[in-house]
Formats: sequence, C-alpha cells, structure tokens
Amino acid sequence: MNESARELQSRLRGLVKTHEPLARHTSLRIGGPADYFVIPASVDDILETLDFVRDRGLPWIVLGNGTNVLFPDEGYRGVIIKLGPSLGRIEISGDRVRAQAGASLAALISQVRARGLRDFDFLVGIPGSVGGALVMNAGIPEGTISDVVTRVGALTFDGKFITLKAEECRFGYRASRFQEERLIVIEGEFALGRGKAWDREELLRRRKERQPLGVPSPGCVFRNPVGVNATAGQLLDWAGLKGLRVGGARISPKHANFIVNEGGATSRDVLQLIDIARSVVLKYWGVELKLELAVVETCGA
Ligand SMILES: Cc1cc2nc3c(=O)[nH]c(=O)nc-3n(C[C@H](O)[C@H](O)[C@H](O)COP(=O)(O)OP(=O)(O)OC[C@H]3O[C@@H](n4cnc5c(N)ncnc54)[C@H](O)[C@@H]3O)c2cc1C
Repeated sequence: MNESARELQSRLRGLVKTHEPLARHTSLRIGGPADYFVIPASVDDILETLDFVRDRGLPWIVLGNGTNVLFPDEGYRGVIIKLGPSLGRIEISGDRVRAQAGASLAALISQVRARGLRDFDFLVGIPGSVGGALVMNAGIPEGTISDVVTRVGALTFDGKFITLKAEECRFGYRASRFQEERLIVIEGEFALGRGKAWDREELLRRRKERQPLGVPSPGCVFRNPVGVNATAGQLLDWAGLKGLRVGGARISPKHANFIVNEGGATSRDVLQLIDIARSVVLKYWGVELKLELAVVETCGA
C-alpha cells in the first residue's frame, strides 16, 4: 500500500485497498485494478474519502452492487467508493422503511415481505443495491422504485448532506437528479402498503423465461428508445444481432438487449459489440440507441 493509501486508511473505520481488481465487483466480471478501493463503514468515512479525493484532485465514482456498470480493462486511476452491507441498515417503523444505500434490493424486499406486504415485490430479481436502484430509477415496465420512495438522503461532492423529497429527485426513465448532479445516495425512505400486491412468482417466471440468468451480464445495455413503438431488445433482435460474438462477449441469444460474458471477455470486446449494435440499429431502423449501462473511463467517470 502506498503512502497516501495508508494516510487515508488511518482516517477511516472502513477498509482501503489498492490495485483491487474491479472484475470482482461487477456482475459482468470485467474490469482491471482500481488505484484506491474504499469500503466505508460509515457516512463519516465517505466524508473523509471525499476530502481525500478533493485534496488530491482524483477521479472518483460510487459503486453499489456493480450490476449495471462496465469498467475498463486498464482499471481505474482514481477512487472507487464501494457501498455495501456496512452501510446496509434497514429499519421499518409504522408505514415507513428506511434503507441505507448499501442494502441490497433483495434484503429490502424480504424485510418488507416479513411484514406481510408484497408492494415491493415488483423489484424482485433486480440484483442492485438500494443506492444504485435510486440512482438508476430501477424497475420494470409496470413500476419503478420512484413509485415507493418518499425521501432520499444524499451527499454533495462538497460533503453537504441534503434530504430530497421524491418529487425533487427528478426521477425519469432510468434517470434521476442523482445522475445529473453526481450526488451520492446515502439512504432512502419508502412508504409501505401504498403499492399493489405483486405476483412475485409470476415476475420471477417472466425473468427466467426472457433473461439469461446465471451468466455474467450487466442486465440491459441500452435504454428503450423514446417515441418508438419497440423496445431496444426488439430492434436489436429484428436486426439479427442475437448471438453476435466479439471475443468472449456475446449479444445474448435469449435477450438481445443483454450482453453476456461467456468467459474471458474484455471491456474492449463489450464496447466493440455496443458499437456494432448501435450502428446496425441506426442503419436498419434509423434509431439511435442510448446506453443504460454505465460505462466508466479509466481516468474519470
Ligand atoms: C441479471 C440482471 C437483471 C437486471 N434487471 C433489471 C431490471 O429489471 N430493471 C432495472 O432497472 N435494472 C435491472 N438490472 C440492472 C441493475 O441491476 C440496476 O440498474 C440496479 O439498480 C443497479 O444497482 P447497483 O447497486 O448494482 O448499481 P451499480 O451498477 O453499482 O452502479 C450503477 C450506477 O449508479 C451509480 N451508483 C451506485 N450506487 C450509488 C450511490 N449510492 N450513490 C451515487 N451513485 C451510485 C454508479 O456510479 C453507476 O453509475 C439488471 C441487472 C442484471 C445483471
């Protein structure tokens, strides 16, 4: 560990690692080493890390469960702030649930179900964290996390804690104010018993039938285009792209909007597939596909 990493470690309760392979922390299993990989144990640890980042002018990015992100093969010449179970408290009181950003959606759903409620079940099978889900406004065609959240606590890059009401979060289709302003989501407050009772088994069955589960992937790569009467997956499928391979990466034969890592895929392979898919869809259908996947560059987000 170098001098500055030791210095940061001395200021934190959590953990600082150097040269941490990012492939270990993403569902695509791709990504070279990060110069600094911080696992904060508290919000104070995040504030200390932001001080460190500001002092040294380093690039930084927050990582949740890594289920919608592509890191470069060269790794990341900056600081990854990984939010996980050490910031994953979930508290239910009355008709409210408060969940920290590092909690998994699966844990949130199961705690809500333990109260006999099924109104968060629409999120079943989404492998992200609460923070990542709020940033991405994760969901399914019939509902998104913005339907059940009431408030979000977040940090600005300057280290100011702000609380935003749901209507101030500018949630949109896979979009939020947190993405626009690079805010760090710390916790969400959710209303219980407001949504409908979902059919969990049916939702899981639908996923199993349509998605390549159990193979490394980042979920959907492209956003569904606006004003077009077809999903990104359909446009890719109808252009004959299912099954296309570059190196170890492949457009899933099961779901054309999923890129899977069939073993040894590099970020270059994935980026090349993305380029091909985009240009073929543009040529065939005249539609410019936009990324849902967060593609991180080596020296910045
Ligand atoms: C098999 C599979 C199925 C999926 N199905 C769905 C689906 O049905 N619906 C859907 O919406 N998504 C789906 N996804 C995609 C993904 O799970 C969601 O986008 C999820 O919300 C990402 O959460 P995460 O914690 O993994 O975020 P990450 O992948 O870790 O991060 C995603 C982005 O959010 C930022 N971020 C993460 N946490 C924070 C935070 N606390 N503060 C600030 N920024 C943060 C990151 O910097 C990055 O830009 C699927 C993925 C897979 C692999």
